[in-house]
Amino acid sequence: MARSLASYQSKRDFEATPEPAGGRRTRKARAPRFVVQEHSATAMHWDLRLEHDGVLLSWAVPKGVPLVPGEQRLAVRTEDHPLEYLDFEGEIPEGSYGAGSMSIWDHGTYELEELADDKVHMRLAGGRARGRYVLVRTRVDPRGKEQWLLRRLDPPDDPDRKPLPERIEPMPLPRAERLPRPARAWAFEVDWGGRRALVYGSGGRIRVTDRAGADITDHFPELVRLGRALGAHDVVLDGELVVLDAAGRPHVGPVHARIAATSGSSIRAQAKESPATFVAFDLLHLDGHDLRDQPYEERRRLLGLLLERGEHWQVPEHHVGEGRELLDGAQRLGLPGVVAKRLGSTYHPARSSDRPDWVRVAARRTG
Ligand code: MN
Repeated sequence: MARSLASYQSKRDFEATPEPAGGRRTRKARAPRFVVQEHSATAMHWDLRLEHDGVLLSWAVPKGVPLVPGEQRLAVRTEDHPLEYLDFEGEIPEGSYGAGSMSIWDHGTYELEELADDKVHMRLAGGRARGRYVLVRTRVDPRGKEQWLLRRLDPPDDPDRKPLPERIEPMPLPRAERLPRPARAWAFEVDWGGRRALVYGSGGRIRVTDRAGADITDHFPELVRLGRALGAHDVVLDGELVVLDAAGRPHVGPVHARIAATSGSSIRAQAKESPATFVAFDLLHLDGHDLRDQPYEERRRLLGLLLERGEHWQVPEHHVGEGRELLDGAQRLGLPGVVAKRLGSTYHPARSSDRPDWVRVAARRTG
């Protein structure tokens, strides 16, 4: 493997980018370090860099470092980087090589077990990536671009970790005539009247399904950035899709039209004309853990920590005990109504129940 920063330096204008130019090449002997940087560039990816022989051997991993064995993740070899890059986080300006934001996803030391031109065996000791990994070169294209595969060899660091489920049955929302009581036993959320959707996120990519499980991802290209916002987290979100007008009022018609669209050009035009918003109201799975048996409040707490409002998604507020106030507000604003969710309730897809934990209460349009 080449140990030169010539390629790294030739691609960058150090007057324009805050990235380090490199130069420091010696340090005292201790365990070599590694870093994994989350890089939201033209395409989202994670950069794995291993300190070796005065430089950082580097690979771009489109779906991130696998935390369970068996997953083979593509890793594209990139130019060696300077040691100073171990600490680098920041914005690489538009027009520069690798433009976008870079943050440190994990770092630590590692033990090199084997290093050859086409294979690296290592034991990572980071905060998130801990254990034995192998990188194997699988292909070198005529231009010299190297494709590798990154695989975890050890069992998961978290023995309870479960894979991301393929499909979760959404919890039903029966209609109720009146606000459930006592109000203090319930949390209330705005009912946006949207199209129910589940979002499965992993490795910076998302899959969107309707309530029956049909894949509608390709119909909502504007949600690609939600995958980036979720980063390397494995998640399943429950929510609804709406189109908000200039006054912030939700409309479901354009969402149905989008799902019915059959050509890519029509979908792109509609996404531009009337972009959809995913309203995320529940978190069902997080990083290997099924949250459906956790109480509503805990799922909402974790959801709030996971996701901030973005251009095409939001996490609506929930109001404990304030059903009447919220329903009056919904009525004033011309919103469909409110959804009441029983405090302490788990997420269960039971079809019929005489004691439902979620109910939808319509706002009545009275003069
Ligand atoms: Mn990169």
